Amino acid sequence: MNRKDALRNLVVLPALAGLVAATTTIAQAKGPKSQFKYQDKPNGNQQCSECSLFVPGTSASAAGTCKVVEGEISPSGWCTAYSPKA
Ligand code: SF4
Repeated sequence: MNRKDALRNLVVLPALAGLVAATTTIAQAKGPKSQFKYQDKPNGNQQCSECSLFVPGTSASAAGTCKVVEGEISPSGWCTAYSPKA
């Protein structure tokens, strides 16, 4: 690698690292209920309380939150991002 290539890498690599960090942040951002077709009732035997992305509230029947959907989430709700607990 010559001096010119080394200097180019000094500029390009940090820029790429920043791009990856920004992309990761976007991927982790929550989306609105409408984006995931959220509903307050189960879809068959699938519901938020059985989803790995659900963050429970203060009791089993209390509303909680979700790692990908914005707002208050019912434990008996459901959306298209449903991901069953392992
Ligand atoms: S991803 Fe969907 S189904 Fe799972 S907890 Fe969040 S809102 Fe409920």
